[in-house]
Amino acid sequence: MINEVRLFQNQHGAVTSAPLPAEMPIEPTLDSYGRRINYLRISLTDACNLRCVYCMPEEMHFRPRHELMTDEELLYLVQVAASLGVNKIRLTGGEPTIRPNIVELVRGIAQTPGIKDLAMTTNALLLAKLAKPLAAAGLKRVNISIDTLDSDKFHRITRWGHIDDVWRGIEAAEAAGLRPIKLNSVVVRHFNDDQDMVELARLTLDHEWEVRFIEMMPFGEISDFQQTNVVSYAEMRSRIEAHFGPLEEVGYDYVDPSRPFRIPGARGTLGFISSVTEPFCQGCGRVRLTADGKLRLCLLRDDEVDLLTPLRNGATFNEVRALMRDGAYHKPWGHGLAQGVFAHNRAMNQIGG
Ligand code: SAM
Ligand code: SF4
Repeated sequence: MINEVRLFQNQHGAVTSAPLPAEMPIEPTLDSYGRRINYLRISLTDACNLRCVYCMPEEMHFRPRHELMTDEELLYLVQVAASLGVNKIRLTGGEPTIRPNIVELVRGIAQTPGIKDLAMTTNALLLAKLAKPLAAAGLKRVNISIDTLDSDKFHRITRWGHIDDVWRGIEAAEAAGLRPIKLNSVVVRHFNDDQDMVELARLTLDHEWEVRFIEMMPFGEISDFQQTNVVSYAEMRSRIEAHFGPLEEVGYDYVDPSRPFRIPGARGTLGFISSVTEPFCQGCGRVRLTADGKLRLCLLRDDEVDLLTPLRNGATFNEVRALMRDGAYHKPWGHGLAQGVFAHNRAMNQIGG
């Protein structure tokens, strides 16, 4: 039995929660298809210091701060999730590192009983400064987005980014022990579907990194661009094999969205995330928490459960927990891209990849 825990407002208006019982029982949560829900991806902010063409329009309006979860509300929802068997958390966005107080927030999440694995997906621009304090606060690993090694193309894809900042971030992450390092590349026709994949794959020859190639997914108002310019897993793989020869299979666990391969003799691995052409929904134990406090049940569907409004209206711990558990139970089996169904209500930066 879990004790009731309420939120309190202090004299500055900040919301804080009473501490949870030390011996809080953890109840594993299954969805209606029997998949165990143990992985929560949290979007810390919808804002970003880049504007990648595959993620958001250039003129992007971000949500006002009061609509986003405060640190206290976010930590509270992490406690609720942990009580339902979530043991793995990934922080994403928008760009998670631009969230004020990020180091303390990471510390709070890492110290939540039940949370065993805490990772972050980031564009790495601020990692030169933040990698060390984040690692000290309890962050374990990072996935870093880098879509090409060509500085002009990088600038074009991100609309204004400098690739040297990403390299400094990767070096800082390695130095801070944030391992294994995974590099994410969304492959976009006419932007980075050429030699870029080969050069990124080549990095694995000398580095123990996993370079992952991601099929571009359609969302919100830029879905036409995304659908027209998607490059399939089959095409990516054949482009890389044409250069390096047949890839070796490394063993697919059907849980990680990335199928791992190795260039023979390489130190690192390659991965392909084929969400569009070969979905991997059968092993999906992920749910997402948007920066404005909605539990999103599938990346590519609009189904969401509002947790923040009930929390702000005084719902008890057990009431919020019931909302989260019922939402997770009703997680859809898979996305509907093949049937032409995709998410309209948010862009990728508002969901968290
Ligand atoms: N700003 C951070 C970053 O770029 O790593 C975290 C947020 S970003 C939305 C998370 C991941 O989603 C990144 O790896 C990014 O490349 C990927 N992504 C963004 N838009 C995408 C799309 N339309 N299809 C597939 N992946 C996408
Ligand atoms: Fe920002 Fe990441 Fe989206 Fe690029 S992919 S615009 S870095 S949130």
